Amino acid sequence: MDLQAIIDDIALSLAERRGEGKVADYIPELAKVDPNQFGIALTTVDGQVFTAGDAATPFSIQSVSKVFMLTLALGKAGEGIWKRVGREPSGSAFNSIVQLEQEHGIPRNPFINAGAIVVCDMVLAGHKPKEAIGEVLRFVRYLADDETISIDRAVAKSETQTGFRNHALANFMRSFGNLHHEVDHVLGVYFHQCAIAMTCRQLSRAGLFLAAHGHDPISGYSVVSPKRARRINALMLTCGHYDGSGDFAFHVGLPGKSGVGGGILAIAPGKASIAVWSPGLNKVGNSALGSVALEMLAARTGWSVFGT
Ligand code: GLN
Repeated sequence: MDLQAIIDDIALSLAERRGEGKVADYIPELAKVDPNQFGIALTTVDGQVFTAGDAATPFSIQSVSKVFMLTLALGKAGEGIWKRVGREPSGSAFNSIVQLEQEHGIPRNPFINAGAIVVCDMVLAGHKPKEAIGEVLRFVRYLADDETISIDRAVAKSETQTGFRNHALANFMRSFGNLHHEVDHVLGVYFHQCAIAMTCRQLSRAGLFLAAHGHDPISGYSVVSPKRARRINALMLTCGHYDGSGDFAFHVGLPGKSGVGGGILAIAPGKASIAVWSPGLNKVGNSALGSVALEMLAARTGWSVFGT
């Protein structure tokens, strides 16, 4: 299979549709991003890398970071984390507060904002906020094998100043006793993890362990056990696109995690890790063209986990 030809073709056929969707503007700094960009990168389990479009342009990974933070929290606290966060799709917006009241401050899953904030609280245990931010940045650099990855301070500051909904979620959970640290400290970590900037190439490399049974086939290191990788993929498939998770499974059929920066990390287990980026979002906050590109890729490669 000529993967380079396939992604070149996808980038070309989407060229006229660049700019589709709506850039996230509730974080003022993200509203400044040029919507006419599209990038795709694919790293295969045998270490080959294929890129097309703006695959070398760094973007704000936003909620894609929740995959890396969850991996860290599982490493630290093990399966005990499931006492404080669920594993069910929410069927609601990524920043919804509705179910939190019904479920006594226990978020439905680690990929909606409330769940990711609890996960941050777990990673923060025994650390100062700066150390926890350093820990996630180091982890992402390690996974991507790239020391140049950094946090976009302007994006982190922008969200710190305007993230009122996340403050509400965090305070609400604290009132139920499901946050153990000061709200400002937990959110400081959360906003900085979301502001990590990466290129499609770096992101596809960082996700490779999830395509390779928890093992990094290029460095040879074991990142997580095969069972844990399988479970993270399951959560990405069922919860990674918020209220669009069913539709993403229907059209693409791969575990995936989106972010409001327009990035999506998708995993083809046993085959490849794929990152796409295009800033315009669809109605549920997932990259509009990114989703289309992955649908095309899954159709052309037969990689859907549900069959060819
Ligand atoms: N930082 C964003 C927020 O909390 C992340 C949301 C997302 O990417 N879906 O609103």
